[in-house]
Amino acid sequence: MATTFARQLLQWHIKNPRPLPWDGGPRDAYHIWVSEIIMQQTRIEQGGPYYLRFIKRFPTIKQLATAPIDEVLRYWQGLGYYSRARNLHKAAQIIVNDLGGVFPSTHEALMKLPGVGEYTAAAIASFAFNLPHPVVDGNVKRLLARFTGFTTSIDESSSHQKIVQLATQLMQEKYPAEFNQAIMNFGALVCTPKNPFCKTCPLSKKCYALNNNCVEDLPVRTKKKTNTLRYFHFLVLSWKGKILLHQRGGKDIWHGLYTPPILETKSTRKPSLKSFASEILVLTGTDKIQWVDSSDAIIQPLSHQTLHGRFYHIELLEKPGKPFPDYVWVSKRQMDDFPKPKMVVEGEI
Ligand code: SF4
Repeated sequence: MATTFARQLLQWHIKNPRPLPWDGGPRDAYHIWVSEIIMQQTRIEQGGPYYLRFIKRFPTIKQLATAPIDEVLRYWQGLGYYSRARNLHKAAQIIVNDLGGVFPSTHEALMKLPGVGEYTAAAIASFAFNLPHPVVDGNVKRLLARFTGFTTSIDESSSHQKIVQLATQLMQEKYPAEFNQAIMNFGALVCTPKNPFCKTCPLSKKCYALNNNCVEDLPVRTKKKTNTLRYFHFLVLSWKGKILLHQRGGKDIWHGLYTPPILETKSTRKPSLKSFASEILVLTGTDKIQWVDSSDAIIQPLSHQTLHGRFYHIELLEKPGKPFPDYVWVSKRQMDDFPKPKMVVEGEI
């Protein structure tokens, strides 16, 4: 079965090449790693320009390792999942400072890098070093669950390893890089979540789901994603042409990025004027203010939460006190130097 499956997949792959934004550019372990981390969170069409911009600024691992983290985050701005950029930077420093600049070349050693899980390690191991480790993403899980009749929920933690084993058995060991590219593309383009192209599918003869009339029932899923609604009220405080920004810390979203101070509420209802005034007093030491305007709501869905943001432009009428350590007054000209989340960029503060 392995040989037929792999052969048919590879034949399909040759007939259906998928041009990638980085085709023609360097494809060593460093470039593969960066593209894989970026593509984990976005579609190729959207992520391609980010990848090209990132690689232009940080063409080598050394240049990434020695760059300030704020600059790395700025080049990540708009992609979301900023912990991935921080891990990329941390791992680059480990490779340059502790491993003599040599990229780890085994699956096991790759997994030790911050932010490199089984999927990314398999992608680098196969694409850069031609090692037979299958990549198993959501597309691959769906395809294999249907093709082999895998009826355990793919959300169970034990399922992941079983599907990795299945993929390893089906893999064509001679061409692991091509096999991985083919199986991911096939899952994304042919064995699609809804209305898969079974009629023209080259795997249809041996496909369990098609031959047992249960394509729509596979893969089995159990976990329902919870979605939290969050309402952010951004205080865009200005004083003599400068705006107050806060570098976010803690374990919440946007760690390390800069935003105007935020008042968060549990509903769309605007905070009271009293809450605004007391927050401004704490932050700036003054409550002499003038309201300028407020924006329409901006809505941004993330994987487990949906953010609603509104920007309130407020001018201070007297000199503010010294800001807290993680706050900074920034002029319009300096604004681009500070990495900000997509919502704040769209808010055009
Ligand atoms: S026959 Fe249909 S369900 Fe089976 S692998 Fe092909 S596209 Fe997927």
